[in-house]
Amino acid sequence: MTGPVLQVAVGTPLMRLFDYLSPDDANGAARRGQRVLVPFGKRRRVGIICGVSETSDVAPDKLRRAISILDAEPALDADLMALLDWASTYYHHPPGEVYAAALPIALRKGTAPRAGSETCWRLTTDGENADRDAIAKRAKVQGRILALFDETGDTLGKDRLSAAGATWDRAIRALVDKGLVERITREARIARAAAVDRRRATPPEPTPEQRVAIDAIRTARGYNAFLLEGVTGSGKTEVYLRCIERQLENDRQTLVIVPEIGLTPQLVDRFEARLDCAVAILHSGLNDTERLLAWRAARDGDAGVVIGTRSAIFVPLARPGLIVIDEEHDTSLKQQEGFRYSARDLAVWRGRQLAVPVVLGSATPSFETLENVAAGRYTHLSLPRRAGAARQPDIRLIDLRHQPIRDGLTEPMRDAIARHLDANGQVMIYLNRRGFAPSLLCTSCGALTECRRCDARMVLHRGRNKLICHHCGAERPLPDACEACGTAELLPVGQGTERLESALRDLYPDRGIVRIDRDTTRKRGEIGRKLEQVRSGEARIVLGTQMLTKGHDFPDVTLVCIVDADQGLFGTDFRASERLAQAFVQVAGRAGRAKRAGEVYIQTLFPDHPLLRTLIADGYGPFARAAMTERRDAGWPPCACLTLLRAESPQRDAAFDFLRAARAAAVDVLAASGDDVTILGPAPAPMERRAGRFRGQLLIQAQQRGQMQRFLTPWRARLDELQQGRRARWSIDVDPVELF
Ligand code: ADP
Ligand code: ZN
Repeated sequence: MTGPVLQVAVGTPLMRLFDYLSPDDANGAARRGQRVLVPFGKRRRVGIICGVSETSDVAPDKLRRAISILDAEPALDADLMALLDWASTYYHHPPGEVYAAALPIALRKGTAPRAGSETCWRLTTDGENADRDAIAKRAKVQGRILALFDETGDTLGKDRLSAAGATWDRAIRALVDKGLVERITREARIARAAAVDRRRATPPEPTPEQRVAIDAIRTARGYNAFLLEGVTGSGKTEVYLRCIERQLENDRQTLVIVPEIGLTPQLVDRFEARLDCAVAILHSGLNDTERLLAWRAARDGDAGVVIGTRSAIFVPLARPGLIVIDEEHDTSLKQQEGFRYSARDLAVWRGRQLAVPVVLGSATPSFETLENVAAGRYTHLSLPRRAGAARQPDIRLIDLRHQPIRDGLTEPMRDAIARHLDANGQVMIYLNRRGFAPSLLCTSCGALTECRRCDARMVLHRGRNKLICHHCGAERPLPDACEACGTAELLPVGQGTERLESALRDLYPDRGIVRIDRDTTRKRGEIGRKLEQVRSGEARIVLGTQMLTKGHDFPDVTLVCIVDADQGLFGTDFRASERLAQAFVQVAGRAGRAKRAGEVYIQTLFPDHPLLRTLIADGYGPFARAAMTERRDAGWPPCACLTLLRAESPQRDAAFDFLRAARAAAVDVLAASGDDVTILGPAPAPMERRAGRFRGQLLIQAQQRGQMQRFLTPWRARLDELQQGRRARWSIDVDPVELF
């Protein structure tokens, strides 16, 4: 035998590992979790060693030799490997792609896990003893630099020293010349916020309810899952901060996962100002080096807290103590393409495996989490009241059937806006539809301008002077005439945020107006600037889409307007009403957060809709209980489990042939196992044609996870073999959050 055989996961769509001979120079040092460079076809690939064995099923002359092992220490530690193995099995996703998802891009490419070096400075012994006042009197910036060293007791880089003033570099050179400071080169790492930033934050005294929650989480030993249910502004973040402080005292790290849009500079500032530790931030806007830096800070234990979006659930932690999932109901916690995992569900698994508590926070918990509470698996903690002086807002429904409407706004809503602006309040207006108008109508023949590649209408964007499809991104210039009949009478129909903004500018020309949606926040840092305009009070009216619903703290907003409540009321997805209720409660929660009482105005064509009534009269909890009964009767999650098999192809038949073959294979598998699993479909997706592809799906329904998994494993193997699968693109989505 020529040495040990490595079982390697390589990024391919196959649900299997590949065997390689150990590299010549490995000295038997191969370990699970190390990255290894291997020949794959004609190319070289970076893979992960999943196992080492003495034998292989591959004939010895066919076995290729790995080129080199890239890590001295495994890039993925044993705990992470266990998490990823479980995820690959549970989500039926190829292990190579699952491991890749857990690695920063730089490491996927095979670079060493170092992040370059940086120049820094530190005090010399002379510097420590130098007369601060004398120096500060003659050279202000030098004085400030010495003060920074004194406050942090640390080695400082450019990022921190530049706080001393624009001429910091001249000042630091002067200090080096005097022998008070020395210049060194060290491996790049994340900086901790200076103590000056921290002194500003005096933590509020916890309310009795917060105290109960804090004590419960702090005294948890080992794994324990908590639902922290608290209306917006009830002080959930404050609870997290207190628990994290305790973790830091015990020298333990906390991992905090937030929704995509929740990771604002405001949130990061709040954490940095409060916590006496370095905070590592992980989100999709980072470049490869920044990401690697944060990943290493988590792994090496330099960061006391790691805050990140979804994929941060895979970050290695040197001394894990606590996992927090903020806004646990948010759909962005589920990856919707490729490796379709739920960061929330993986957090609970990881917490159990690491034996640390997991806190799921939300004002509007997902039904899945409520079900886990009902079953006694999670401990329920609740913050029923707002922290500080804030009260719940008054909610008013406006019946659109009995009100003339102009530019999307009824008279009572306009009056309310004017009243709040005059009383120096801030107004937030929610309309979950970007663009100018959602359709362009020909007044002569009645045709609506459609996307050529999707079953959808083109949305008019006036600012860019284009029609844009929100589903495939297709753009075309505004037509001069109707594409169907040639008449020039084209009418924009309906309201988008762009149109609403221009109407508001006409109505309130002297008030600061800020629009927050995907069109106005494309540039990096733009969302932060806009939020700052709202917080500083420069903007008096803020309008926008879903982006407004995510956890921002705007203390001066006194009125929230929901322009169109009916968008989600009659959705095709069984979760439509849950989502609508969540958006409602989240938006309404923006009103009156601080000392001023808030009002919420809601425009609807269906003021008697039972869902709206329950939600407004009794709140989210009773609404959820009522809606859960419907779910149980219909066999929908969380009262059952679902898996979705999606297929798409430019040829309609190719997608549906595959789905029909997949269904036949499912019937076979079930005949053998006798399990009670229901197969629904094939059916076209709710929007059948998208970006020129026809899309269909098969829905699998089972009573329990065990049943579902017993079915999926053999079925997935059969799918890989289907000839029809070569002509269609397909994917498996376990616990889908969207049914299309
Ligand atoms: P949530 O995360 O539930 O939206 P936050 O923790 O952000 O709530 O708190 C909302 C506001 O109330 C913040 O401005 C916070 O500083 C303040 N706050 C939180 N807890 C208290 C408390 N116990 N006393 C006074 N103010 C508080
Ligand atoms: Zn399109």
